[in-house]
Amino acid sequence: MAKSRPASKEHSFAVRLMQHLVVPTFVLDAERRVIIWNKACERLTGVTATELLGTTEHWRAFYDSPRYCLADLLALGQTDQIGALYVSHSQPGESAFGLRAENWCVMPQVKKRLYLAIDAGPIYDEDGVLMAVVETLRDNTEQKLAQMALHSLAVRDSLTGLANRRSFDERLGADWLHAQREQTPLSLLVVDVDHFKLYNDTYGHQKGDACLKAVAAALGEQVFRPADLAARYGGEEFVVIMPTTDLDGAIHVAERIREAVMDLALPHSASRTADRVTLSIGAASVVPSSDQSAEDLVAAADAALYRAKHSGRNRVMGAEMVAA
Ligand code: GH3
Ligand code: MG
Ligand code: MG
Repeated sequence: MAKSRPASKEHSFAVRLMQHLVVPTFVLDAERRVIIWNKACERLTGVTATELLGTTEHWRAFYDSPRYCLADLLALGQTDQIGALYVSHSQPGESAFGLRAENWCVMPQVKKRLYLAIDAGPIYDEDGVLMAVVETLRDNTEQKLAQMALHSLAVRDSLTGLANRRSFDERLGADWLHAQREQTPLSLLVVDVDHFKLYNDTYGHQKGDACLKAVAAALGEQVFRPADLAARYGGEEFVVIMPTTDLDGAIHVAERIREAVMDLALPHSASRTADRVTLSIGAASVVPSSDQSAEDLVAAADAALYRAKHSGRNRVMGAEMVAA
């Protein structure tokens, strides 16, 4: 049987169907040339079929520099690259049935970032040789943004934007186990705004909120190691978790935070400590042993904070935790 068939009536009907399918779809041949780029794909990407048919330039519709699309990975048999190219994806081992992935795309022509859900399916001839790959796209941007907003609500403090108490508890538990297993130091800061009740009494609750936001932002800026976590513990108290950091390192970061808030120079006329908003910070560090718990580390940092308050406020006190 001849490999190239004449364009039958059925064939051109199928192509027409594909052109008008409401699902954005394009098809590559085995050499990764675009052979179909349907109307819905034109609408989604702003790139027309005439620009792309016969080329391997389909990436231009989605990204601002050359890279493979999901259909290319199938056509090239390079499905192992899927993890490097997509934020979420199916297992490449199942590629005989196609691939599924999700990604933020730049969409250079329509000039707006879209979160696309992508399916790519191979088409084989009678001899099992790859003839073409069909890629279909779904715009999941709205769902993704809603999901991100929900996630953010669950893990962020709404006033300051820092991690919330729940994220802190979860992270401390995980970091504790990790430090215990690896026998590495884990440090914690408990940060408390000095005379904050007086601040509210003097300037009102709204100014109090604005002050907490400013303090949180200054604190957050000083916590930049990817493994560290700054969180609002509650009220006018903040916490910072620092894995693989010893007490000296923790005190260093605490001093930086204290100075950053001093530098904000937020007036606090009723403070008995300074002319501005200040912080007291307790730091604690431990290489966890099996007879200690994460709660002990929080208690040690709290005790250090208590000492900082009682030695005059606007200062950092540290405590090394030792095995009981
Ligand atoms: P100290 O120097 O000993 O820390 O004294 P303090 O006044 O800061 O401590 P205290 O615990 O007596 O008071 C904390 C105050 O923080 C009381 C509370 O009204 C205020 N506060 C807690 N959460 C918020 C908030 O979300 N917004 C505002 N504006 N105030 C808050
Ligand atoms: Mg307090
Ligand atoms: Mg306070």
